[in-house]
Amino acid sequence: MTREQLNREIRDTGLFFPIDPGANASLGGMAATRASGTNAVRYGTMRENVLGLTVVTASGEIIHTGTRAKKSSAGYDLTRLMVGSEGTLGVITGVTLKLYPLPEAVSAAICHFKDIGSAVDATIQIIQMGVPIARCELLDVNAVRAVNEHSKLGLRESPMLLMEFHGSEAGVKEQAETVQAIAAEAGGENFEWASTPEERTRLWAARHKAYFAGMTTHPGCRTVTTDTCVPISRLTEIIEASVAEADASGLPYYIVGHVGDGNFHLAYMVKDGDAKERETAERLSMQMVHRAIALQGTCTGEHGIGLHKQGFLVDETGAGAVEMMRTLKRALDPKNILNPGKIFSL
Ligand SMILES: Cc1cc2nc3c(=O)[nH]c(=O)nc-3n(C[C@H](O)[C@H](O)[C@H](O)COP(=O)(O)OP(=O)(O)OC[C@H]3O[C@@H](n4cnc5c(N)ncnc54)[C@H](O)[C@@H]3O)c2cc1C
Repeated sequence: MTREQLNREIRDTGLFFPIDPGANASLGGMAATRASGTNAVRYGTMRENVLGLTVVTASGEIIHTGTRAKKSSAGYDLTRLMVGSEGTLGVITGVTLKLYPLPEAVSAAICHFKDIGSAVDATIQIIQMGVPIARCELLDVNAVRAVNEHSKLGLRESPMLLMEFHGSEAGVKEQAETVQAIAAEAGGENFEWASTPEERTRLWAARHKAYFAGMTTHPGCRTVTTDTCVPISRLTEIIEASVAEADASGLPYYIVGHVGDGNFHLAYMVKDGDAKERETAERLSMQMVHRAIALQGTCTGEHGIGLHKQGFLVDETGAGAVEMMRTLKRALDPKNILNPGKIFSL
């Protein structure tokens, strides 16, 4: 079952499941990759929203982890071990998820900034002030251009924040007023409300298609995408440094970010088959990851390690932690039949 199917199934119950990676992924895949998305800033990621699992182990047994209770201190937390294990420890066949009441009021807004640093500064302020914002997404000028063209929107072409507020009518009004004041102080202009559900849906659909929109701006190119996440207080620093490097490289690029979480994706566009461009993009991507780790952040906020980021995992956690992961893998999958070679090599 995919996340969209689930939300369609429960539409009439007054509840919803908020985790929304850009793709209409399966719930098992989302649990396996510890996915998040635009709503994570308020509702958390799969780590916070999976209460329990049914898992088929490497030996073919079926185990259940967790309960429906909000908390438990019963033994090892196998749910959290499986969530994010990228299919290397077991096959997830059942997921017990936390659902949320549909908010009484929802309101979305966009705000433009003269430069990307000001947009990120505003985000940091919003989070540090404790505003329970539901979504806070950054699009750089290149991403805005791409979604304008792809989704036929007429957004002003400058860095922008796309935000959403959930709560009671009064709560949403209060959050929006606070955010508007913070944005204005950071130099935000043209604060605009998307008041109807249709307008909101159009904006968020465009945001979710930003990856494809970015790709269509440079036909014949492939993207090298980064997924770093840092403590929110260090976000302006890493984004500004990454933008300066990307500009200097001459490669086309765009940035979209779940900035409310301190997470952003910088996608370099490289000509298919052009080894030199690819090498430049990989080098820049590596520099960005090292910068994120130096700022006490991570090499992947949501996409996982897979094959490509195995070296970064060692840089981030240290060889001892990766060795402990190997020990777990050997104990739970002695024949190495579950996604062999993913996350780390044995
Ligand atoms: C366009 C696009 C946008 C995205 N945006 C975001 C985003 O904003 N936030 C975010 O967090 N992620 C994002 N992602 C990544 C996305 O979350 C993952 O690709 C998705 O969660 C994986 O689910 P899937 O069903 O596609 O699994 P697959 O791609 O099929 O598998 C992914 C991994 O999980 C394992 N796996 C799959 N199913 C199971 C199972 N039942 N049991 C055990 N292991 C399993 C696979 O072996 C594999 O290692 C994006 C991906 C795309 C393509």
